[in-house]
Amino acid sequence: MIVDRLGRQFRNLRLSLTAACNYACTYCVPDGKRLQAAAEELEASEMLKLVDVLIAVAGIEKLRITGGEPLLSPKFDEILPEVMQMGLKDVSITTNGQLLPRKAGLIADSGLERINISLDTLDADRFRSIARSGDLATVLKGIELMLDAGLKVKINMVPMRHRNDDQILPLLEYCLERGIELRFIELMQMGHLQDSGLYTTQYFSMQDILDTIGEVHDFARTDAAFDSTAARFDIPGSGAFGIIANESEPFCRTCTRLRLSSNGRLYGCLSNSKSYDMRDILNLPEPLALARLQQLLKSAMADKQTVSFQGEVTVMKFIGG
Ligand code: SAM
Repeated sequence: MIVDRLGRQFRNLRLSLTAACNYACTYCVPDGKRLQAAAEELEASEMLKLVDVLIAVAGIEKLRITGGEPLLSPKFDEILPEVMQMGLKDVSITTNGQLLPRKAGLIADSGLERINISLDTLDADRFRSIARSGDLATVLKGIELMLDAGLKVKINMVPMRHRNDDQILPLLEYCLERGIELRFIELMQMGHLQDSGLYTTQYFSMQDILDTIGEVHDFARTDAAFDSTAARFDIPGSGAFGIIANESEPFCRTCTRLRLSSNGRLYGCLSNSKSYDMRDILNLPEPLALARLQQLLKSAMADKQTVSFQGEVTVMKFIGG
């Protein structure tokens, strides 16, 4: 197992099933662009083999299936039931929810207990102007189906100034009424946001979010797990919410995340575009494969930032949220 000088180990793997997405969110892609599958994406069997070896060698305990949009990938139906049998402490999915009504049965049957659904607004027109595709009612139906199936649901919202900051309170009420934890994600400087000026005008900080909620609710900060990315807050008698404050409270010092992209590249850090080809590992005889993987993991660990997210040209589509 690799441990760096800050005591960080890889424990959480983000597995991106495909770089393709059925949305074109304004914070993810520039105008007119659409996310496509990467050239030469791995087969499901190859992904499963790599996950297996990462569990054994890197000490992965938790797996999040992501993308692109993971439910869009034909591999999803094969991969989910298989990873549920790998003895991991925790498996979860991050999805935009558009295909949830179609996949609800498969998800419920897999035994999955947790799911994160991204939703930036409860207003149908605004939904289309941010996601530039999809349909709000379908996502809401998907959320209800997951709750009915007994899953613990979290909703991820990216608040943006003058875009959807007025949706913070309606979304919070929606979540509190249903026992859902709402997690606000501070806008990150990724991809085209880096130099378009959009980041500066739309960034809505943790303090801005807390001020907005404080107009209506009393809340208190609670302890979060040591490697949690979210600051957690209780609203006494009503529920809880979280804030992933990449900018305001960077969590690089305790980051335990490792990312495997859909085309088989390993990333140690969301803020670093360096990546390592894992396809070798599939073809080498076992002792050599394990030695090679140790090397790759060392390099990936060295790519982690020590203090904070620096901004990166890599868009989240390659490596998942
Ligand atoms: N398609 C899936 C979804 O929508 O949940 C999974 C991939 S998406 C990249 C994962 C999460 O990253 C979503 O919650 C999305 O809102 C968030 N995200 C994407 N770009 C972001 C950015 N620039 N800043 C903050 N969050 C971002």
